[in-house]
Amino acid sequence: MSKLKIAIQKSGRLSEKSLELLKDCGIKISASGRKLRTESSNFPIEVLFLRDDDIPQYVEQGVADIGILGENEVWEKNKDINIVRQLGFAGCKLCLAIPKDEVYTDLSYFENKKIATSYPRILGNFFQEKGLNVKIEEIGGSVEIAPSIGLANAIFDIVSTGSTLLTNGLKQVETVVESQAVLIANKSLDTEKQAILDRLLFRIEAVKQSSENKYILLNAPNDKLEEIITLLPGMKSPTILPLAQEGWSSIHTVIKEDTFWDIIEQLKAFGAEGILVLEIEKMIL
Ligand code: ATP
Ligand code: MG
Repeated sequence: MSKLKIAIQKSGRLSEKSLELLKDCGIKISASGRKLRTESSNFPIEVLFLRDDDIPQYVEQGVADIGILGENEVWEKNKDINIVRQLGFAGCKLCLAIPKDEVYTDLSYFENKKIATSYPRILGNFFQEKGLNVKIEEIGGSVEIAPSIGLANAIFDIVSTGSTLLTNGLKQVETVVESQAVLIANKSLDTEKQAILDRLLFRIEAVKQSSENKYILLNAPNDKLEEIITLLPGMKSPTILPLAQEGWSSIHTVIKEDTFWDIIEQLKAFGAEGILVLEIEKMIL
């Protein structure tokens, strides 16, 4: 039987979360030491540990069938592959930064300036769309020091907290794009491999849904049930059970993590009591 080959980052910011996602999907991987490939003992998948830069190319060529990496690398490498799903981790921004004492007005600041970056394609496309002419200096890493050593006037790089910028005397002035980890796939998977990918995606969906939702139980006075139920759509509709105490019911349902606090406040306003909120382990819609 064929196995689906998945490429993940060998060591770096994506490695741990990528392995964790597979684990949450119930896929056992023995990531032992320096081994560069390993098979799952309970799912038809083989894991290749690679540098993230190489993953788009390997997936395009079919050396790997699928891969996990940052969208930023996918855009930069511009290979002929499918982006299958955003994975919601390793979020970051790609930003333009300039020496902190410079006066910044707007993007026209960059006209004819030299910008150092490891992402020349993303940056080039951005300024081309804006109709501005800039000089792009491609470098492999340590981009932040480029202005202080006179290599460039500005930089374009990944920023998460901005502390690296500050220590190098720079300030962020524009966010060009936001990125997160994505699952990519080869464009011509055979039916057997596509079926394995579909099984994997089904599991990823369940894992994602469970992390985006909470299970909620609460007690509500019967005369407020109608209002409360409109706040709580649930998967189909909430479960309502009578309490031993006359005039009260217990409501069980699922709510979205991102609307969570809003809903809790409104529920309390309607007289809901004894609200319990639980993590969901897996969720199949
Ligand atoms: P490799 O050795 O595999 O080439 P790398 O040094 O290119 O690794 P990492 O620094 O591990 O890459 O980052 C991998 C990805 O993590 C980035 O491409 C980006 O999508 C994401 N990321 C999230 N937050 C950050 C951050 N603060 N700095 C850099 N990358 C980040
Ligand atoms: Mg890399």
